[in-house]
Amino acid sequence: MKNVLSCVQPTGDLHLGNYFGAVQNWVKLQDEYNCLYGVVDYHSMTMPYNATLLRENTWKMVFYLLACGIKPENLFIQSLIPEHIELSWILGCTTSYGELTRMTQFKDKVDQLHETDKDAFVSLGLFAYPVLQAADILIYHADYVPIGKDQEQHLELSRNIAQRFNHQFGKEYFVHPAPLYTETPKILSPADPNKKMSKSLGEKHYINLFGEEDRVRKQIKSAVTDTGEAVEGEMSAGVKNLFELLRASKEMDAHDSLMADYLSNALRYSDLKEGVANAVIKLINPFRERLAILQVDEKNVKNQIHEASAEIRKRAQQTLREVRDITGLIV
Ligand code: ADP
Repeated sequence: MKNVLSCVQPTGDLHLGNYFGAVQNWVKLQDEYNCLYGVVDYHSMTMPYNATLLRENTWKMVFYLLACGIKPENLFIQSLIPEHIELSWILGCTTSYGELTRMTQFKDKVDQLHETDKDAFVSLGLFAYPVLQAADILIYHADYVPIGKDQEQHLELSRNIAQRFNHQFGKEYFVHPAPLYTETPKILSPADPNKKMSKSLGEKHYINLFGEEDRVRKQIKSAVTDTGEAVEGEMSAGVKNLFELLRASKEMDAHDSLMADYLSNALRYSDLKEGVANAVIKLINPFRERLAILQVDEKNVKNQIHEASAEIRKRAQQTLREVRDITGLIV
């Protein structure tokens, strides 16, 4: 079986966009590939952060992913495997300064920091972030990395780093990781359907996967359906998004019957929203229930992830033994 690796930053809540756009796919991939999923807390130190919150959010993300169906043995916490950092240093020495300056995400994040404070501190960590990402991938010899378009440039850099390392040391050691594209829906903000559902826009712009039923219903009921920009005879972005949510929730009977109403001009938006709210609640209720069960057993679950990380660490240590040998470090 081929190796798949994907990582997520511990950023707090998970929303429906994250689920339909990424996590659902990760759960499925576990049947076909050797999957490893990392909660990458080292990466979260590259932007201003709060230490207490980082630790809290790291565990929160672990529990969320488990509740969604990620198998505990496939899940690790990055900072429990410090070999990622060691490899990142070694790979950093085969990465050129020039190619890192061309990373658009670095430029975007610097702009983001400077938006609120023109003298904002920009760390070496933020600049070197893509090298750590390459280490995350290469350390487990991942064949595939499920990514969205926004991460293409970083994965390309990981391939370049692997190639340069192999060339420099005259050995086909690192696998060249390939992107794994899966057709996933893009979910829009209920409050502004011209934008992607996203946490960075604020609370009203995302539907929490583990949200309370009342709030989720309220958010869907008040979803914007008409932005005033709709072209006559064309479905508005907000309405399209509601149909997309029905389709993504696999409620095709409700989807088809409401679509038939839409096509015959008989659709009431309140019925569409009711249908979407029911579909989303039906989807997320089992997640909340599983999360509650995991939380009762919190200590055991945390131990399980410590153990899984220790087991996965053995693979990282093996890679480092080989890399130290190849690169001339003392073994
Ligand atoms: P956020 O900051 O809103 O949590 P991220 O940019 O960290 O989102 O994305 C995490 C993962 O979720 C990525 O794989 C991304 O493609 C996916 N994702 C995020 N928002 C959406 C969305 N609105 N629709 C579909 N997928 C999304």
